[in-house]
Amino acid sequence: MSELTNLGVKAIRDGVADGSFTAREVAEAFNTAVADAADLNAFIVTTPDHALAAADAADAQRARGEDLGIMGGVPIGMKDLFATKGVQTTAASHILEGFTPEYESTVSQKLWDAGAGMLGKLNLDQFAMGSSNETSYFGNVNSPWRKEGSNAAMSPGGSSGGSSSAVAARIAPAATGTDTGGSIRQPAAFTGICGIKPTYGRCSRWGVVAFASSLDQAGPMARSVEDCAIMLEAMAGFDPKDATSLQMDVPTWEAGLDADLKGKKIGIPKEYRMDGTDEEILKSWEQGKEWLRDAGATIVDVSLPHTKYALPAYYIVAPAEASSNLARYDGVRYGLRDLPDGAGLQDMYAATRAAGFGDEVKRRILIGTYVLSAGFYDAYYTQAQKIRTLVSQDFEQAFAQCDAILAPTTPTASFPLGSLNEDPLTMYLNDVFAVPASLAGLPAMSVPATVNADGLPLGLQIVGKPFDEQGVLNAGLAMQQRSGFDAQPEKWW
Ligand code: GLN
Repeated sequence: MSELTNLGVKAIRDGVADGSFTAREVAEAFNTAVADAADLNAFIVTTPDHALAAADAADAQRARGEDLGIMGGVPIGMKDLFATKGVQTTAASHILEGFTPEYESTVSQKLWDAGAGMLGKLNLDQFAMGSSNETSYFGNVNSPWRKEGSNAAMSPGGSSGGSSSAVAARIAPAATGTDTGGSIRQPAAFTGICGIKPTYGRCSRWGVVAFASSLDQAGPMARSVEDCAIMLEAMAGFDPKDATSLQMDVPTWEAGLDADLKGKKIGIPKEYRMDGTDEEILKSWEQGKEWLRDAGATIVDVSLPHTKYALPAYYIVAPAEASSNLARYDGVRYGLRDLPDGAGLQDMYAATRAAGFGDEVKRRILIGTYVLSAGFYDAYYTQAQKIRTLVSQDFEQAFAQCDAILAPTTPTASFPLGSLNEDPLTMYLNDVFAVPASLAGLPAMSVPATVNADGLPLGLQIVGKPFDEQGVLNAGLAMQQRSGFDAQPEKWW
C-alpha cells in the first residue's frame, strides 16, 4: 500500500470517508515510511500507536455512519514545539529532554478533535531558533533533496525543518509548523512544499513552547494549497487560554478556495529586489507575476520603504522576548537539572542553563538580555519597536493599493548543511523576505514555483491583509495551478 503515502490531506480524508481505503491502512503505510526514513532524522520521537489509535477511531466512526472530522483519518507530523500530553516535548533542546507534558497544546488538541492522528514529534532548530535545522540538540535534519549530481547533505530549512523534510519526503502528508520570523515559509520554500503562517492570533499559542511571543504563530505545512486550507481550518480558532488569541470565527477556507483573481490587485514591492538574491529567484518572481496576471489579477508596483530595517529589528525584538521567555528553564520546573556537588541555587541555575542550552540559544539570550538592559534599552529595544511600527505602516499603505503582495520567499535555494554555520549573519539573511510580514503580524504563504538549475525547489511568497488568509490561499492556488510543480526528491534515505 505504499502508494497511499503519495496522498495528501484531502485525498486521504476523502478516500477514508468514501471507503476507498481504511484509515488504518493509511496510518500503517505512513508508520512504515517513517520507520524507513531514519536517515532524514526528521523525527525526535515516533508515535505509531497514536496514529493507529486515531485511525481506528476514524474507521469506527465511519462504520457507525458518523461524519468524520475535517482531518478524519489523516496522520500528521507534530513539530516538537507543541506540548503533547504524555509524549516527550523538547523544543529540540537538551534542557527539555525527558519533559513529558501533562497537557495538550490547543492546536494539537484541535487537530485530534478534527480526526487527525500523530506519527511523531518532528525535529526543529532548538527553541525554533535557526534557519537550517542545525541547532537541534538531536542532530540536524537532512533534506530529502540533493543537488543534481551531488551527494552533499542539504538543509531542509528551519526552524520547521523536520516538518518540511517529512512532508517533502512523503513520510507525512502534512505537518504542523511554527513561524516567528519565517520558520514555516523558508523551510517550505527549500523543500518544494506549501506552508502558511496565518494572521497573528489565529492559532492559539497555548501549549506551544514560547520563543518570541509577539511573533510566534502556528500554521500548516503540506504539499498543496488545498491541504493547507483544510489543516489551517482545523488548527485555528479563539482560545481564552491565549491572551492574544483572535476573537473571530474561523472562516471555511477550504470551501472558499477560488483561483479566479479577477478584480484583484497584486503588489510587487520594489524594495525586495535586493543584492545577493539569486538570478533564478528573480526569474521565478517574474514568472509568478505572469501566473497571477493569467488568473485575472492586475499587477501593481508598491513600496515597502522600511524593508531593509526589518531584519535588524527582528534580531532585537525576537531575542529580547526569547531572553525573557527562556528564563523559566532553570532546573527547577522542567527537564534537565544540573546540581553540582555542594552547589547553591544560583549555581544550579547557571550549571543547568550552561549544560542545557545550545550555542545559538545562548547567543540569543545574551543579545536579548543586552538589548533590554538599562542604558541600552532605548538605543536598541525601543528603536526596534519603532521600526516594527514603521514596517506595519508600510504594509498598511501598500494595502491601500493592492489586495496581496507577491515576493520571493527566500533570497537563495537550500544550501549544503554546514556551509553557513560559521556565519550567523549570513544565516539570518535567509529570512530577509519573511520577517517583515512577521513583524506586521500578517498572513503569508510560500508555494513552490519551480526548481533551479541544480534541481532544487524555489518558493514564492504571498503576503495578505490582516485576517485575509482566504486571499492568500486563493492567490497561492492560482499559482499552484499554473506552476504545475510536481518535482519530487529522489529517494536516497
Ligand atoms: N530563522 C529565524 C530565526 O532564527 C526565524 C525562526 C522562526 O521563525 N522560528 O529566528
